[in-house]
Amino acid sequence: AKGIGKGTVKVYQEMMTTSRRSSLTLESLLREAIDSRKLEVYLQPKIHLGSGAVHGAEVLARWTTDDNERIAPDVFIPLAEEAGLMRRLTDCIMVKACDALNQIAPYVPDSFRLAVNISASELANEHLLASLRRVLEEFDLTPSRFEIELTETALIDVELKILVDLKKAGFTLALDDFGTGYSSLSYLNRLPIDTLKIDKSFVANIPLEQSSTNLTRSIIRIARDMGCSVVAEGVENSEQHLFLESENCQLAQGYLYSKPLPLSEFIEFISS
Ligand code: C2E
Ligand code: CA
Ligand code: CA
Ligand code: CA
Repeated sequence: AKGIGKGTVKVYQEMMTTSRRSSLTLESLLREAIDSRKLEVYLQPKIHLGSGAVHGAEVLARWTTDDNERIAPDVFIPLAEEAGLMRRLTDCIMVKACDALNQIAPYVPDSFRLAVNISASELANEHLLASLRRVLEEFDLTPSRFEIELTETALIDVELKILVDLKKAGFTLALDDFGTGYSSLSYLNRLPIDTLKIDKSFVANIPLEQSSTNLTRSIIRIARDMGCSVVAEGVENSEQHLFLESENCQLAQGYLYSKPLPLSEFIEFISS
């Protein structure tokens, strides 16, 4: 065998050092951004398909570094997960979400809920409910003003008690990206879920592509049978809107109505 020359090894080692250094740098920047509460929340309205009224909004985390570089959630959320920063990130996002809700409150009915994304690791954390409560109390808010968005994968190992306790506290629970996981319906039916969110990969292909269209129809029916409300995410055009409306989907979210907005623009959106 030829073996690897010393030169190759050296190059490889340098590459490793560089890539390790860059992810370490990003990680320490993220840690700093979380601790100094530099993460922002953007809000995306959820719309009643029938009336066009704003029903609530989803909270989406945003990070711009001091160098003015925007890092996508699909990058920094997994990084926070790997680095063990999820608990602090969730705390930071909840603080910002509560502050936002208090500023929105004058413009919306009491039924308006803010939906926050909670990751699988956080859901499995027995301290979750206590830390959510602590933040809410600080802002004089009750869990009844919030919905928790969970993915099907987050439910695989979760104890039913955690979900029941969140519900008892007053949170509602939504299943995000519904249809992309592998949970059985009989299992889901035993969980205290309030809302199903139709994944945007299906919505993207309605009403022209047959299988996504059928799946969307099925999810709307499943939601009805389970006594859940249903939200279509990623609605971008009026064909999708009209189809969903004709299928009696109640709620929708997507660029057609509004992209996720910083608080001031969100307040403009709901008060105009
Ligand atoms: P998600 O929870 O499924 O959020 C929906 C994503 O779709 C968001 O991407 C949103 O900006 C985007 N979106 C909204 N309307 C449309 C549309 O009409 N078309 C298309 N193509 N996309 C649309 P974003 O903000 O980049 O977030 C990506 C993912 O990062 C989220 O997916 C969620 O899993 C995660 N994430 C974001 N914020 C948080 C957070 O505070 N905590 C946790 N644990 N995860 C978060
Ligand atoms: Ca979500
Ligand atoms: Ca989703
Ligand atoms: Ca997603």
